[in-house]
Amino acid sequence: MGQNGQRVFLGKVFFRGKIILRTGMHIGGSQESMQIGGVDSPIIRDSGNNLPYIPGSSLKGKLRSTLEKFGKRIKEGKEEKLSSNRSIGTFRQKVFIHCCEDIQLALNCEVCRIFGATGDDREFQKGKKDRRGDKAGNFPALLMVRDSLLDDAFMHPSRLLTEVKTETGVDRSTMAANPRQVERLLPDTAFIFEMVYSVENIILAGKAKTDFPEANLKTDLDNILTCMEIIESEGIGGHTSRGYGKVNFVFTEFLGRSLDYFKGKTKKEKGKSDGGFSIQEARGKIDEIVKFLKEESRNAVSG
Ligand SMILES: [Zn+2]
Repeated sequence: MGQNGQRVFLGKVFFRGKIILRTGMHIGGSQESMQIGGVDSPIIRDSGNNLPYIPGSSLKGKLRSTLEKFGKRIKEGKEEKLSSNRSIGTFRQKVFIHCCEDIQLALNCEVCRIFGATGDDREFQKGKKDRRGDKAGNFPALLMVRDSLLDDAFMHPSRLLTEVKTETGVDRSTMAANPRQVERLLPDTAFIFEMVYSVENIILAGKAKTDFPEANLKTDLDNILTCMEIIESEGIGGHTSRGYGKVNFVFTEFLGRSLDYFKGKTKKEKGKSDGGFSIQEARGKIDEIVKFLKEESRNAVSG
């Protein structure tokens, strides 16, 4: 076993469905994609087909920042709230997020276990290390969040997908207006989301026992769904405080599949896949998915 332990693959849990916009949404694109005569603030589009999409990084970032507000970790046997301890910004623009200092903490942290941690980089910041995370190692995320691509129903070339909205700030003493144009996706536009959670028995150095990670799996699936529920009340993308970005998540699949499924030894899977169900209905399936994966993994774990 390496210094950082090992990961035993046991299965996956799939979250799939539609993100349906209830109000206009703006996720900003690159300034380089701006054209002469274009709007001040365009949305992000796929550079290949020019269609709008929701980057996996935007959705993952929103999920992570939501969980950072209520998640917790166990440190030295004690439960604690999470602090925004890590600067990922630049000198000019400081951005602080939560990130655990080592893999032991990350494994016992509700945020870093799902979304990953890059380890302690204080040595890097002091110039003593060449690479970020060298000191404590990297804790790879258990959750993959894919780009959410436009739903097929919206692919027709004549379909209008965005509007340009003019937003105006008014100077409080002179009443001078400062109009700027913001491109936003129209309400009712739908995207297909897919997130895949990897069920792994993570064995840290010096800890030989292999268990099915029942408690962590239940907590993580529950936390992901809670974050989705909170995001429905807050929104995705820019300008949410001005009404942009309200979304609904509509599930089409919430499924657990064991290692044997991927090996082609079984077609058994557990969860729900009959389309059009809510976050709360998905939550009601957690216990049976966890029980199923534990049962299917009995040969892969030692006790
Ligand atoms: Zn953490």
